[in-house]
Amino acid sequence: MNNEVSLVNPSKGLLDSILKGVKEGVKAKFGVKIALGVASAIPIALANVAAEAAQVQLNPVSPKLGDTISVIVTPDNPSNGRNLEVTSNGKTYPVFPIAPNQYRAFIPTTPLHKYGRKVIRVSGDGRTRNLAVWVKNRRFPVQRINLPPGKAGVKATQHELDRVRAFKALVTPQKYWDGPLLRPNGSRISTIYGVRRYYNGKFAKNYFHRGVDYAGGTNSPVIAPAAGRVALVGKVSQGFVVHGNIVGIDHGQGVTSIYMHLNRINVKEGDMVKPGQLIGGIGSTGASTGPHLHWGLYVNGQAVDPVPWRFSAIK
Ligand SMILES: [Zn+2]
Repeated sequence: MNNEVSLVNPSKGLLDSILKGVKEGVKAKFGVKIALGVASAIPIALANVAAEAAQVQLNPVSPKLGDTISVIVTPDNPSNGRNLEVTSNGKTYPVFPIAPNQYRAFIPTTPLHKYGRKVIRVSGDGRTRNLAVWVKNRRFPVQRINLPPGKAGVKATQHELDRVRAFKALVTPQKYWDGPLLRPNGSRISTIYGVRRYYNGKFAKNYFHRGVDYAGGTNSPVIAPAAGRVALVGKVSQGFVVHGNIVGIDHGQGVTSIYMHLNRINVKEGDMVKPGQLIGGIGSTGASTGPHLHWGLYVNGQAVDPVPWRFSAIK
């Protein structure tokens, strides 16, 4: 599309589409910072805005590290939804239809990511739109762990690493969850998401607590926070020496959750679970110093903060 040429001799139809584009651009400004130079040269801005063939909405408007960024795309022309691509920092994220003529990609963030300006590129039908969002820094609590020399803890087996890695990589087109997630256990939270650690005074730069811990007693019920398919059941006897007895639920569209250190397991691989369904009981199996549930929520393979998924509906 050649906007400069069109602008020299604008037709009525083009003017209408420019005006529509401007209105949409202004609307989008409330939600996101547009990377286009809207405030600079007006004709260029008009041309760029007119070239946009879709509305893009980012949620939350002001994300912080650990949040899941929803990129919701509504193409002006329904036929443009087929080849949408969402990329950021050279990574391409899967896009799924979520309503008639509406599509979504999830961009996970974690404490290991850089805070600050993040550019999200949405393209489709030969057109590209760049959106900039400011990801806020967040101060995560810090733990200092001192291990006696030669005590590095239990080492995970290759089998459990392979199984868990394959599970977190699942991107199933079906969407099983619907609405906010339930609390998987009724006990108090003992460790929140994102806690960083020093081991013997040395900062563990790749470590962060990849989930939320609940300090329930042995066999305190663990429920599925949302619908999904049980895609992983692992046991200490099969080599899950670090994770312990574990259940993994595939909620679809790149969203998965894991439940670790269980004492008992009430589901088997392939089972479809409903929100609130009993999946197991709290235990202290694997690398654990006392009964607790470790709940991890993964989006496109990255451990995100489950808390926003509990309270602000990521439908
Ligand atoms: Zn934990």
